[in-house]
Amino acid sequence: MDVAVLVVGAGPTGLALAAMLGRTGVPVRVIDKAVGRSQQSKALGVHAGTLEALSDVFGVGLPARMVATGQPVRAVHFHLGDRQPIAVDLGGLPSPYNFVLVLPQGETERLLAEQAAAFNVAVDWNHELAALRQDGDGVQCEVRRPDGGIELVRAAYVVGCDGAHSEVRHQVGAGFAGGSYPGTFLLADVSLDWGPGYGDLGHDSVRFFSTEAGAMAFFPLKDPDQATLGPTLCRLVLIPKGDAPAAEAEVDLAVFTTLARAVSGLPLVLEEAAWLTRFTIHHRMVKRLRHGRVFLAGDAAHIHSAAGGQGMNTGIQDALNLGARLTEALRRGPRGRKDEGVLDRYAQDRLPVARGVLRGTDLISRVGLLADGWWGRLLRRHILPLVIGTPFLRRRIALTLSQLPVSRQERPVRLAALD
Ligand SMILES: Cc1cc2nc3c(=O)[nH]c(=O)nc-3n(C[C@H](O)[C@H](O)[C@H](O)COP(=O)(O)OP(=O)(O)OC[C@H]3O[C@@H](n4cnc5c(N)ncnc54)[C@H](O)[C@@H]3O)c2cc1C
Repeated sequence: MDVAVLVVGAGPTGLALAAMLGRTGVPVRVIDKAVGRSQQSKALGVHAGTLEALSDVFGVGLPARMVATGQPVRAVHFHLGDRQPIAVDLGGLPSPYNFVLVLPQGETERLLAEQAAAFNVAVDWNHELAALRQDGDGVQCEVRRPDGGIELVRAAYVVGCDGAHSEVRHQVGAGFAGGSYPGTFLLADVSLDWGPGYGDLGHDSVRFFSTEAGAMAFFPLKDPDQATLGPTLCRLVLIPKGDAPAAEAEVDLAVFTTLARAVSGLPLVLEEAAWLTRFTIHHRMVKRLRHGRVFLAGDAAHIHSAAGGQGMNTGIQDALNLGARLTEALRRGPRGRKDEGVLDRYAQDRLPVARGVLRGTDLISRVGLLADGWWGRLLRRHILPLVIGTPFLRRRIALTLSQLPVSRQERPVRLAALD
């Protein structure tokens, strides 16, 4: 056996797993086909449940570094049609992390990689899993090296943290059932001025707009260099209706600005796009997280709408649960021979969580982002204000999105692995 666990993919899921196994002393190797860490800001929201889970495993230092790097946000404002915005305060979340931490994914990955490195676990970049075959004792993997040659790696267990197009998932023949949402999603990391007379909207709250013209979300980003980018660096995600650009049309900052003004009804001034892209969203998941000695985690196992910022958080918590189960199994013997019950519990814990996240994000997307016509008007004018305005429902939604209940339920699993 070359290594106990081979982790395929060094996104947030793979890095969290690698750091956890480093922490519990399990021999682990991490490979990634990319040449280096992604700089993209993709997932922005780190929730309280994830910060508590990371704190359980690595101590308060890691979440403290994440909080210091990002921007804790304690309020969400809903702008529904032409009503006055409704404010939701997250300060009541029952956690020391009573906020959503807005932190670009690239930074989350950097800090997780540093945590893994503290346990002498480094990523082998430019190493691609090409094929795998398992037998009763382990998994034989073919890994393509930077020079194009194939290295054979034998591991007791392999974990596919290799994202939505997972090769590990293909290799074990797992299906990925689901579908795609209609509509064009546009994303821009820009410098924003709310426009004359709207400066008091400020920069310390997440804002969500839903109008006849579409939906838009605003996330404040911590400005690394105010001198060049202005005081209001932010992420805007836009789902225009009606006049949405055709799939093949190029979207530049001018087109984006016109659409963002139409959706928000505000005279926004946008400058200096650091990242401008369009994407489609899908909802898919596997039926099984375990295929013998091969496991799937994060986007390799489930993808869904970004509404509610659940994807990366779910992946990191998959990783910490699986890390604990693998640690326990390997403690029972060098090849985890008596592992069956322990390792099956990963799927027993996490498959229902993934299903719940898919259902919840699907509901938010259909109700909050994509609803159109009379149904959209009914939602904006009556149903959403009623739901958001009801303290009990508001608290429940905020608590579910924070992932605190699931994280706390799994805490004993994580702590047992550290003994
Ligand atoms: C535009 C955009 C915006 C998003 N916004 C949000 C958001 O606001 N909130 C949120 O929670 N989520 C968001 N997401 C989703 C979030 O980015 C993912 O949930 C998250 O990246 C999943 O992490 P992961 O580690 O499971 O997979 P990934 O981040 O996809 O990492 C997979 C890694 O595996 C590597 N790999 C792939 N194949 C192989 C192979 N054969 N061999 C070796 N390595 C391999 C890849 O190079 C990659 O580094 C967004 C995604 C996009 C695209």
